[in-house]
Amino acid sequence: MLAVAHLNAWYGPAQALFDVSLQVGEGELVVLQGLNGAGKSTLLQALIGIGPQVQGDITWDGQAIQAWPAHRRAQAGLGFVAEDRRLFTGLSVHDNLWIAALAEGQGTPAERYARVMQLFPQLQPMLQRPASQMSGGEQQMLALARTLMTGPRLLLLDEPCEGIAPVLVAAMRDALLQLAREGVTLLVAEQNNILADRADRVLVLVSGRLVPQA
Ligand code: ATP
Repeated sequence: MLAVAHLNAWYGPAQALFDVSLQVGEGELVVLQGLNGAGKSTLLQALIGIGPQVQGDITWDGQAIQAWPAHRRAQAGLGFVAEDRRLFTGLSVHDNLWIAALAEGQGTPAERYARVMQLFPQLQPMLQRPASQMSGGEQQMLALARTLMTGPRLLLLDEPCEGIAPVLVAAMRDALLQLAREGVTLLVAEQNNILADRADRVLVLVSGRLVPQA
């Protein structure tokens, strides 16, 4: 489904990824681990088409996408939730979700909205609240819910459980495992072993290089 071959990435003169090759198969849950600065965010951003300068091959459903802009990759089914969430903080929870639901995707906007609310019932009581008045964990949920509105087939998540309250970590873990059961393919960067026990594979980045799999 996703194949990466000999990917190198740079920020200006500083190289952040070195010869990274990996594959993610349809329906897999793959966890990407590594210490701060190992290159997890850089790899996810390179795959979605934002951030660093990239060289190498990225293939999605048999098509070479490394020259595609980010919006084209998103239309092709790649969804990304950044560590910093990137919400419209002045808008309500409902409006954040509805704006995303109106984008193209499978089914009608109303169907997509209903499905996401069923996955994240915690958002229901706060629909009218500005996103700026949510906790970090609630915002993380909203960011994931918003990305799901576009019906991605592969979800790239950057530290979805970082710095959020334990009760929301459990809810986030449940939601991600539910998505995995529904067949959504997941590539999740995490440092704190929230999902690693349920992963089909765990990839480890050290100083921009993937540790070879046993
Ligand atoms: P963290 O969990 O702390 O975000 P990470 O594994 O996601 O760590 P990256 O953020 O991908 O690591 O960082 C990889 C390397 O690239 C680091 O040396 C970092 O300093 C550098 N880097 C990341 N973003 C930029 C940027 N916008 N400009 C310059 N260098 C960057």
